[in-house]
Amino acid sequence: MQEARPVRANMEINSHEETLLRMFETQRRAHEADPVVPARVRVDRLQRLIGMIEAQESRLIDAVNSDFGARSRTESMFAEIVASLSSARLAKSGVGKWMKVRRVHTPIFMRPGRSEIRPQPLGVAGVISPWNYPLYLALSPLASALAAGNRVLIKPSELTPHTSEVMKAVLGEVFDQSEVAVVTGGADIAAAFASLPFDHLLFTGSTAVGRKVARAAAENLTPVTLELGGKSPAIIDASADLPKAARSVVFGKAFNAGQTCVAPDYVIVTAEQRDYAIGALGEAFNEMYPAIDETPDYTSIISERHFDRLRGLVDESRAAGAQIVEFGNGDKLRALRKLPFTLIIDPPRDSLVMQEEIFGPVLPVISVPDAQAATTYVNQGARPLALYWFGTDRRERDRVLAQTVSGGVTVNDTNWHVVQENLPFGGVGDSGYGVYHGKAGFDTFSQLKPVFLQSRFANTRMMQPPYTASTERLLRFAKKYM
Ligand code: NAD
Repeated sequence: MQEARPVRANMEINSHEETLLRMFETQRRAHEADPVVPARVRVDRLQRLIGMIEAQESRLIDAVNSDFGARSRTESMFAEIVASLSSARLAKSGVGKWMKVRRVHTPIFMRPGRSEIRPQPLGVAGVISPWNYPLYLALSPLASALAAGNRVLIKPSELTPHTSEVMKAVLGEVFDQSEVAVVTGGADIAAAFASLPFDHLLFTGSTAVGRKVARAAAENLTPVTLELGGKSPAIIDASADLPKAARSVVFGKAFNAGQTCVAPDYVIVTAEQRDYAIGALGEAFNEMYPAIDETPDYTSIISERHFDRLRGLVDESRAAGAQIVEFGNGDKLRALRKLPFTLIIDPPRDSLVMQEEIFGPVLPVISVPDAQAATTYVNQGARPLALYWFGTDRRERDRVLAQTVSGGVTVNDTNWHVVQENLPFGGVGDSGYGVYHGKAGFDTFSQLKPVFLQSRFANTRMMQPPYTASTERLLRFAKKYM
């Protein structure tokens, strides 16, 4: 057996970290003892995950609700339960196919040798998840990592302690700690977690913490997938059905009260459309959420700190002279940590609200002279996680898609590309790197081992020294055909 690789030598160890190390070592030893993971084992693990989600759905939804104060149960059902089941089910049905040896083309010069890719489990995978979809963003990467045949340690966010504890308990009921385990704790444990020599680490969270994770992982040369946030624009083209586009933008922005990584961060319209857009956005919000302090459909902001941060963004823009338009009010908003849907009209580019990811129901409306100016505006900022474009002018749509670089795109709606399990999901530039979901997730958590199988009929002697005229002839052939 291979000698175990040493865990970070200079790690100062306290009792929580000791537990963490023990869990990691348990999984590593289990993988080393059993490195070949047949399809039936992977399918069984995925089925246990599916069975757990189905059996525990109301317990899980209650836990998320306790963490948020008020979290729309419908949105939890969709974004935590249905979305997680969809990831796990697609992985279960796809894994047999994805695991198969993949034949690839072999140049004529190298035939009759054969080239192929053999997917192989990496070993122990780490998943660090954020608070905004505390189940889905832990369980969906888990499904990918299990499909790929790995053992998995999960570190959920300390901002959702109820969900983390329930998730730990219910996963503990269906998985042995050597297969899947949950580690809870704050930023210190998170930092220790990121320093473990995982075979792959998938981090979902902010760009600032993502940089720290990438740095810690670099010490071990651990490959990382960074699923970060950013400022995702929604461009409403002059050719769009504006009221319909406004409804989609409001849906994407007010879902989970804007606490969604791919939520439209700001909207861009032409100056001519601006006032019409403001009216349409407000109307759409009022229709969807008639009374935000009463309706169970409108979610609270996760914490006082984030509530104050969002209020601060609005206050700063107001002080800078931007027009603020609020929709939805009530007497209990502060107590419930519910924020009105707030439009900030044409805030300056250097204001805080246009510098940092908003992550709440505050929507800057940026007006530009024409369509080209919209893409220029987007391209002056960091590359976003998502981009939304609304309109019927296909040439303009294709121009925008070609001239902007974003993690993903939904055309004529918001957010929906994320739950298409067959589309790879990930960011680019400041919004992260690497992808998962579906087969892309399987590939991320696998060693896609390239193998060349030389044929016994191959005349390799001709390519070995001493080089002769025949070698030269062969090289001329290779230069033409390889
Ligand atoms: P965060 O970066 O504050 O925390 C995420 C996780 O990192 C938590 O589990 C936390 O404990 C852990 N952490 C904290 N310090 C750490 C360290 N030094 N090393 C390792 N881990 C550490 O993010 P958040 O506030 O929980 O989530 C919101 C952010 O996540 C937003 O920026 C949002 O856009 C982004 N996000 C991205 C996606 C995506 O799929 N791309 C999805 C959801 C959220």
